Amino acid sequence: MTSKELMQTMEQYGAHNYHPLDVVLTKGLGSKVWDVDGNEYLDFLSCYSALNFGHQNPILVKALESQLKRLAVCSRAFYSDELALFSKELADFCGLESVLTMNSGTEAVESALKICRKWGYEKKRIPEGKAKFIVMENSFHGRSIAIISFSTEPTYKNGFGPYVSGFEVVPFGDVQAVADAIDANTVGVLVEPIQAEAGILVPPPDYLKKLRDLCTKNGMLLILDEIQTGMARTGKDFCFQHSSIVPDVLILGKSLGGGLLPLSAMVSTREVMDVIRPGQHGSTFGGNPLACAIGRAALRLLKEEGFAEKANHLGKITVGMLTEKRLPQVKEVRGTGFLIGIELEPAAGGARRYTEELAKEGVLCKETHDHVIRIAPPLVISDAELRHGVQKVVSVIQKLAH
Ligand code: PLP
Repeated sequence: MTSKELMQTMEQYGAHNYHPLDVVLTKGLGSKVWDVDGNEYLDFLSCYSALNFGHQNPILVKALESQLKRLAVCSRAFYSDELALFSKELADFCGLESVLTMNSGTEAVESALKICRKWGYEKKRIPEGKAKFIVMENSFHGRSIAIISFSTEPTYKNGFGPYVSGFEVVPFGDVQAVADAIDANTVGVLVEPIQAEAGILVPPPDYLKKLRDLCTKNGMLLILDEIQTGMARTGKDFCFQHSSIVPDVLILGKSLGGGLLPLSAMVSTREVMDVIRPGQHGSTFGGNPLACAIGRAALRLLKEEGFAEKANHLGKITVGMLTEKRLPQVKEVRGTGFLIGIELEPAAGGARRYTEELAKEGVLCKETHDHVIRIAPPLVISDAELRHGVQKVVSVIQKLAH
């Protein structure tokens, strides 16, 4: 089938819950992908940071193949060697004590909310049915019914009620607003260290530290969603390490599965995790040996291959190239490590037409909201490939502005 026919087939038979660019991909390797017509592209999106280690990373593919020959899936009615070792290695790597494995990021967030609520009832003695979380304006934690219940984005929320209660929304980056929202029934604060989906919004540098202090002082849990910022993307293994703190609960996904399989996790202290007992939570595929073997290989890559330093290096090249031209169409270039947003001036006409043009030029980017172009290629991209791609971004911005 031609790409046009495949897109028509997708429109006819698929759900219309995404708005993809007109590119039909069939192959990927490292930082490159190819469409069904044989055209080559640089992947500047990395599947929203699920591909930090690149497409088909050979070390991860090898881990997958070798585990596939042994045991792929087994019931949680039994122990498995890979799940035991992955749980220990991930907990140690995060500086925490216990791991609950799930599949998607959304499931990991849901699991964290559920377990933290129970912690609130059992440990904080919150009256039954009164547990409350403080959450952020413009957050993105997935699109399940509980999560959209506190979303401030109408596209995610409207038309899907009735909603789940027990969430108080405050402005992102505002510590005083969190302090003002605390009451005796507050279980914890759920926050992304950088709001990626909202347009790569970076809070003040002392934000996480102050939230940590507030949570400690008030006996509340600091719950960090690092599904997108974790796994070296921001120049540290986890974004919280920039602030020299440790959360009570860390939520991971995306690149935890090496860009090969869905694998997510809630990582926490034993005190929090121990409130959940047999039968109260679970997932058929969560923690399957195949995903865990890849997760273990991904952690080894993080420890041994210097991906966090690479993210810093690549981010500096990108920001340098984007800012040195002083493009009048660009309002701001922001981000941390290799998670970068280019906010366009309102007069630049919306980010979508730039990403469409970039696809024609062989660079796949995605707009985030109306006016931000996100730059987050795989961390395996070479300097030369990156420079080539960023140069295309600059020239497309210049070209379309006239
Ligand atoms: N949380 C954050 C910060 C995310 O960026 C995402 C996905 O983009 C999610 C949660 C949801 O993850 P998933 O799409 O794997 O369910």
